[in-house]
Amino acid sequence: MLTLGIDIGSTTAKCAVLEDGRDFRAVSLRDSGVGTDGPQAAFEGVLAELGVSRRDIDCVCATGYGRAAWQDADLRASELTCHCLGGVYVFPGLRTLIDIGGQDAKVISIDAGGSMAEFVMNDKCAAGTGRFLDVMAALLRCPVDSFAEAAARSKSPASISNTCTVFAESEVISQLAAGAAVEDVIAGVCRSVATRVGSLARRLDMREPVCMSGGVARNAAVREALSEYLQVPVLFDERAQLFGAMGAAIYAAKRKSKE
Ligand code: ADP
Repeated sequence: MLTLGIDIGSTTAKCAVLEDGRDFRAVSLRDSGVGTDGPQAAFEGVLAELGVSRRDIDCVCATGYGRAAWQDADLRASELTCHCLGGVYVFPGLRTLIDIGGQDAKVISIDAGGSMAEFVMNDKCAAGTGRFLDVMAALLRCPVDSFAEAAARSKSPASISNTCTVFAESEVISQLAAGAAVEDVIAGVCRSVATRVGSLARRLDMREPVCMSGGVARNAAVREALSEYLQVPVLFDERAQLFGAMGAAIYAAKRKSKE
């Protein structure tokens, strides 16, 4: 049995194909999300990688911000459910998952049986999300995938006091004008995201082990700052950005095996 999860996010589209509810056979990621051709490209990409067609897939589950728009879904599931399933698959025994995506951040507390117990989220404000980092990346002319490397060179991270993205942009411009080094500003920007999301996490009864998911998990500077802020190790896996798609494929497999 093959099940496919498609996670249609605000900035990226991700797919994962699972065999018999156990092993992932292929994954794909495209850097364009809802409202673009990214989801279709990710979908066709993962099928092509496996050398199969849509007819060979027993169940497709869509998740993410754009899941309602994906016509070819047999099922739909929330991002909370899917990130939780993906996180527990990769880290068995996981108790807290911190997902920072392109436009929101969620902290999910997971019970001993691997199910979601409660969650808190920020979907109202760009600060503390990938969007904040993307805006700063454009301003600082440094791609987000180089942020961690730049932050590692920082000797004195800048303090970003504004929580609003628009005000923080002006703050960063004045810091640069005053002679702050770009790497110090980048380190400060990463810390600012970690502090925002860390304070969200503190609203829950947070248990270890803790992991990060979502695209921002790929930024080691945010991971390290989050770990420092929360005073716990924060686990990371290379597939972190795919946890939603992986979880959707797991959800589909569970549903299929119940039928
Ligand atoms: P969504 O599902 O909303 O599209 P994702 O979970 O895919 O969001 O995360 C997208 C965010 O991840 C981007 O806004 C960007 O800041 C960040 N990101 C993506 N790729 C990388 C990378 N290689 N290194 C660091 N950050 C990244």
